[in-house]
Amino acid sequence: MKVNRRIYICSPLVDKLSIIYNVPLLDAHNRTIRDLRISLTDRCNFRCFYCLPNGEPPLARKDTILTFEEIAYISEIFVSLGIQKIRLTGGEPLLRKDVPVMVAQLARLKPRLTDLALTTNGFDFTRKAGSLKDAGLDRVTLSLDSLKADRFHEITGVDALDKVLTAIESAKSFGFDPVKINAVIVRGCNDDEIVDFARFARENDVKMRFIEFMPLDSGHDWQRSSVVSGNEIYEAIHSQFPLKLKNSSRESETAWKYEFSDGGKGEIGIIAPVTEMFCGACSRIRLTADGQIRTCLFSTNEHNLRDFVRSGASREEIVEFIQGVVIKKEPRHHINDPKFVQPARTMSFIGG
Ligand code: SAM
Ligand code: SF4
Repeated sequence: MKVNRRIYICSPLVDKLSIIYNVPLLDAHNRTIRDLRISLTDRCNFRCFYCLPNGEPPLARKDTILTFEEIAYISEIFVSLGIQKIRLTGGEPLLRKDVPVMVAQLARLKPRLTDLALTTNGFDFTRKAGSLKDAGLDRVTLSLDSLKADRFHEITGVDALDKVLTAIESAKSFGFDPVKINAVIVRGCNDDEIVDFARFARENDVKMRFIEFMPLDSGHDWQRSSVVSGNEIYEAIHSQFPLKLKNSSRESETAWKYEFSDGGKGEIGIIAPVTEMFCGACSRIRLTADGQIRTCLFSTNEHNLRDFVRSGASREEIVEFIQGVVIKKEPRHHINDPKFVQPARTMSFIGG
């Protein structure tokens, strides 16, 4: 094995950089980075009020967006550095043309890449499910914030509940396993549906993920009082359908996972980044559609990998660039600090 071709150990006072080749990506807080989220586009056909209520600002010029070839090249380098999971997201990733082609290029990175997943609002999923599966997509997560048609329309700006429910059925029938469903729970909006979602998980044998509302909305309407805590979500479900914890430690996962004590089908996951920070075990890094590396959802700065790659940098230099960025990953987010500043770019740009 080729290791330590060049090692720079700089004084921690000067720059905490330790650049080592062909070893997993490690940050300065001893966290190994295994999970890369790639935003394929910052555009979206939905207008979820907690994400992108007013649509995108004027579109970035097309040539600022990474091409599939660039994404494949960068991903291959990331995988050589120990990334095991890639999730394609956005914006709405399926708005990008020929996503199965991108999936097929990334699937070539298996078996070092162990998990290739997609998060989608489901609007256009049914039409593409077969070609995504054939291209090598392993898993899909669909977003569903209400089981009531009118409310779904109000939340997303689009009258598409039936389409998303059909997409969930398609995901199951094309053999995606598991099928996960994300619901962002917001007080006074859909918190009265928590138990209905749990019932939906049981009846449809899917993994329901309840997510706390985070301050990443482009409308800047987030308020602490709108956050329904993970604990409240747990209590609401547990009182109707007793739950049994599946993972006693989350390790680098974001969710506490539960099964139903009565042996019912489906799974419940609770993701509580606001009330129960899990930064200490974070293994994630993000690449925006325009090629910026973000080391945290709440980063206030980004690292321009796109221009570095386009400048003709060698593979070795790109490896050094990535390692140099990862080592500086923030120890934690600051949502709960009085001086918290919401990042300039919002969830749809960062890639949730
Ligand atoms: N458009 C796709 C979708 O909606 O599934 C993928 C991108 S979306 C940004 C990814 C996930 O982020 C979705 O499940 C969405 O519900 C979640 N999300 C968006 N804004 C959020 C916020 N402010 N707080 C918590 N989750 C959010
Ligand atoms: Fe679009 Fe997904 Fe954001 Fe909704 S959550 S506006 S579907 S990117």
